[in-house]
Amino acid sequence: MSYSNEMLELTLARADREISGLIDDEKERQRVHIELIASENFVPRAVMEAQGSILTNKYAEGYPHKKYYGGCGFVERIEEIAIERAEKLFGAEHANVQPHAGTTANQAAYFTVMKPGDTMLAMKLDQGGHLSHGHPLNFTGMLYNVVSYGVDRDTETINYDELASIARKSSPKVIVAGASAYPRAIDFARFREIADETGAILITDMAHIAGLVAGGVHENPTPHSHFVTSTTQKSLRGPRGAFVLCMKEYAADLDRTVFPGIQGGPLLQAIAAKAVCFKLAGEPEFKIYAAQVVKNAAALGLALQARGFRLVSGGTDNHMVLLDLRSRRITGKAAERVLEEAGITTNKNAIPYDPEKPAVTSGLRLGSAAVTSRGMKEDEMKEIARAIDEVLSSPEDAATTRGVRSRMADLSAAFPLYKSL
Ligand SMILES: *Cc1c(COP(=O)(O)O)cnc(C)c1O
Repeated sequence: MSYSNEMLELTLARADREISGLIDDEKERQRVHIELIASENFVPRAVMEAQGSILTNKYAEGYPHKKYYGGCGFVERIEEIAIERAEKLFGAEHANVQPHAGTTANQAAYFTVMKPGDTMLAMKLDQGGHLSHGHPLNFTGMLYNVVSYGVDRDTETINYDELASIARKSSPKVIVAGASAYPRAIDFARFREIADETGAILITDMAHIAGLVAGGVHENPTPHSHFVTSTTQKSLRGPRGAFVLCMKEYAADLDRTVFPGIQGGPLLQAIAAKAVCFKLAGEPEFKIYAAQVVKNAAALGLALQARGFRLVSGGTDNHMVLLDLRSRRITGKAAERVLEEAGITTNKNAIPYDPEKPAVTSGLRLGSAAVTSRGMKEDEMKEIARAIDEVLSSPEDAATTRGVRSRMADLSAAFPLYKSL
């Protein structure tokens, strides 16, 4: 038999029924479940089209007009547009849009300014920080002397005076602002003041709140930070990927750190999708989305409080609600499991000074970005709060779980997702 290119033309359904079937199953799961994972979202179809495009075929090591491969004319233009849009959206002097993921974006910023053994000061992981902020099993924990700050026991918000005193004592090379599980606004000006006073470089990791920043409902860290890192897939509603912003003086070093320092060829399909994401995030409709994300988190939090739940820090300023489940006599792990059975997807999360182990936890993290993208508003948040309360009040009662599951499916059906997919 001679070779023909038929294999190239097969649809996924014909080429691989197993994977195609599982994608269909996952699509259905996304359609009928209430998605409350704070780091997740539903991306616009346009973003997916770019990410699933023929750009995956192209190699383009290097930066626009300095590429190491031929045939880069069009993809160079795509990368330039992504860079320009990121800079404009966040008011940055320089953007690098190549990092494959948030952890890699942080690695790029750290490697640009720190050497192994240097001290970094970041938020405690069990009080809201991210793995890439110093977890012992993460490269940060292996390479750097990690010092951490936390939240005040009473207010459960960042104690800036304590942060300043830790910074004075430890003289860190880098201070990291930003978190994965912190429901309150972050005072970037204060962070910068502390960094300036102690001679540290301020790296703000805005992965969770980037969409709120773009939409104008959270202060923009860019003017206050030497570097800003972010993913694109969370509240910003873009593809799975990341970017780094920095001041002009660090631009050349940052670019060299990303390539050839820690990555090879960029994922052009992801960069095109990031460009689309940045465009959409600059449109007036996105401001309305971002404002509704915040309103929905507030409504969800209030409704849960009214039903007797305790919110860490007493409320929320952003897209996130962190529940303390101790008074409900259920662990985060058990709550996550029973809510999933009831058609509500969440994740267990440590709360500040959590007595439970990280694999169990006393907390549950909820986010409003994905349900807002579907079009849900305050009334739906109240309905979801009622459902959460019912399920967690009788977690052993299969009839309650089944009843809520069917109500959540009806609620989902009223907000259709990807109608043409
Ligand atoms: C999600 C997140 C990241 C990491 O993103 P990945 O793309 O999963 O590597 C980094 N920092 C913070 C604060 C995050 O919340």
